[in-house]
Amino acid sequence: MPTLTRRSLLAGSTVAVLAASAPGAEPVAAAAPPAGQQAPGIYRYRIGAFELTALYDGIWYRPITDKFIRNAPFAEVERALDAAFMPHDKLATPFTTLVVNTGAKIVLIDTGTGGQIAPTAGALRDNLAAAGIAPEAVDLIIISHFHPDHINGIKDKDNALVFPNAEIMVPAPEWSYWMDDANMNAASADEKLTFRNQRRIFSDIAKRVTRFEQGKVVTPGIETLPAPGHTPGHTVFAIHSGDRSLMVLSDTAQHPAVFARHPDWQATFDVDGDAAVTTRKRLFDRAAADRMLVTGYHFPFPSCGHLVKTASGYEHVPAEWQPAL
Ligand SMILES: [Zn+2]
Repeated sequence: MPTLTRRSLLAGSTVAVLAASAPGAEPVAAAAPPAGQQAPGIYRYRIGAFELTALYDGIWYRPITDKFIRNAPFAEVERALDAAFMPHDKLATPFTTLVVNTGAKIVLIDTGTGGQIAPTAGALRDNLAAAGIAPEAVDLIIISHFHPDHINGIKDKDNALVFPNAEIMVPAPEWSYWMDDANMNAASADEKLTFRNQRRIFSDIAKRVTRFEQGKVVTPGIETLPAPGHTPGHTVFAIHSGDRSLMVLSDTAQHPAVFARHPDWQATFDVDGDAAVTTRKRLFDRAAADRMLVTGYHFPFPSCGHLVKTASGYEHVPAEWQPAL
């Protein structure tokens, strides 16, 4: 086998440059045209007897300003973004929903953007189809909290239900907070948009929505845990089957390169920043100590891995792709 040295690589690239710039040289036609589009965003894994399918809905590059983190100077935030190879004016915000086939039910945890938030998101239905899961087959939708990127996929742009046979379960304190008109009237103009969107999604289907108390097992093997801060009723899920467990962290932290490494940071989108930090540290400490597999809604796809405690925060270690289930 010939040895590839830096010198031979450089020599090779010089030849390529010379060939490309030679007078009269025609561009070489590729043997096959490029695909020009991404492959489906699906990743399967198992927790005990449960089969899980992570489904990518897409990504939003959320515009940010120097006010993005309430309790850190922007220069520090810029250093964290640099360390994560991210621009300074946008936060990479991927969306990954999770289907759990418990054997008894097909459960969907959070529903994606419904194609109503960013042109680069809204792929959930295509990825569901690529995974061989019909929307009609979903028995139960469980919602972590009421921000639009988690609930908008319940309906399409014309307000029709995307998953017509699914029971919808939502955290009771989340419903109490956001569906309260006094809270809406007291909110800022921006927040009022969030309140109005929740009414668009839920008002005419309120009868089919079940409110659960946090701490309850909502279906065998899926336990709900209170995780207040990001929103008042924000909920995390512990999925148990056999001797295996997974913690579904929802929005306990957004991109881990920013918020796991800097767990004290309070983002402008957290309703109660102090509570969000307390919740994040409590759950991350538990996941790190127990070496639990975790998934986060805004972690890079397929978003499952582990959290390791470091001197100043936590590091997310992505799981290896598993070729066999
Ligand atoms: Zn979110």
